[in-house]
Amino acid sequence: MTSSNVCALRAGLRVGLDRVAYYAAKMGLKTPIMPYPSITVGSVEVRPVDMCTAYASLASGGIRHDPVAILEVQNRDGIIIERYQGTGFRVLSEETAWTLGNIFQDVLHSILGSTIKTPAAGKTGTSTGSLNAWYCCFTPEITVTCYVGKDSKKVMSAVNTIIWGSSMAAPMARDFVNACLTDKKHPLPKTPFLPAPKGMTGSLFCKTSGELINGFCPKDQIDSEYFFAGTTPDTPCQYHKQGVFPYNVVEEVIDGKKYYYKPGNSWCVTKEVLLSKDVYEKLPAKSDCPALINFTISDQSGQLLQEPYSFSKGGIYNLDVVIPQDVLGKFNEVDVYFGDMRVKRWQEGDLDSDTGQKIEFNSPLITTFAVSPDDTDKTKKLIFEIRGPNGFYLKKALDVGIN
Ligand SMILES: [Zn+2]
Ligand SMILES: [Zn+2]
Repeated sequence: MTSSNVCALRAGLRVGLDRVAYYAAKMGLKTPIMPYPSITVGSVEVRPVDMCTAYASLASGGIRHDPVAILEVQNRDGIIIERYQGTGFRVLSEETAWTLGNIFQDVLHSILGSTIKTPAAGKTGTSTGSLNAWYCCFTPEITVTCYVGKDSKKVMSAVNTIIWGSSMAAPMARDFVNACLTDKKHPLPKTPFLPAPKGMTGSLFCKTSGELINGFCPKDQIDSEYFFAGTTPDTPCQYHKQGVFPYNVVEEVIDGKKYYYKPGNSWCVTKEVLLSKDVYEKLPAKSDCPALINFTISDQSGQLLQEPYSFSKGGIYNLDVVIPQDVLGKFNEVDVYFGDMRVKRWQEGDLDSDTGQKIEFNSPLITTFAVSPDDTDKTKKLIFEIRGPNGFYLKKALDVGIN
């Protein structure tokens, strides 16, 4: 489990680093915080007790209570002679505190699942180079900060082993909270989190556009979220339209990383992928993608047909196929179907059924096919299937009209 540092950084730049530093201090971080971009991803050294104060202010709906060691003083007869009277002070709006808590509930769940036995919210911290690992979590009743690291600021583990907040610190924090729940003297109550503050409304929305769902938004892009008053989406998704989305893109996996391109030609192996419109428009075209087959179709008078192809009933057509140099050897069999009927098979090295000559893919492949005079279809598919060694297989189907 890794955090989205890029998003945190962008969010920090968007709201202003001064404000990030201001709110960090306001929420209880006492070490100096300079407004550098890296503060958004935890570059500043902070004290665990300060982190605990900050998270506790989320748990209490935006009210900060600084930690106190002594809550009350009793005399020898057990009479309380002094009691801590702190009321705390507001550092975040109720809406902001609730929203962060709501997000951190999901985040905690993604790491600890339901192994924490009470409603809880939490966030990890993992430093570069395994210097330390953090977990801050809270229930409506208790806030826990768990720090794993060395005072000497030396690396905790052998090279190449990352000490994750999620694997080291989170389970310790969880075990502590769970132990509190069953404490004999002061068992921690299992309290639910407060409902959303007044004025916030829950709404279904499209994750791609951030707008209201419109009936074409794919299921996996529909989400529900709470919105601050005045920010609830009110226009239907402008992005998902029938027949436009998802986009066909070429997906390539290189060293485990996915890369996307626009198809360079109609033979490209494409995948329907959900991308936002502006991302799709910025994708490079896959220009180095070889066309596996170049072909032309002509009628009996030698006139070349143009796409979209349209055939006449009873017509006879010539199909000329040229295999480009750079894909020679990639496949050794080409089948052509017109509807369900196979009209031609070229298999390298075999004898051509039309000419009786040995088939060689480095010279043009030529055949003719006929459209039945009583064909009742308005459209048919012209299909190419190509096969090669090692299971190479690609099918390309063109819609053709018949009149
Ligand atoms: Zn949508
Ligand atoms: Zn391609």
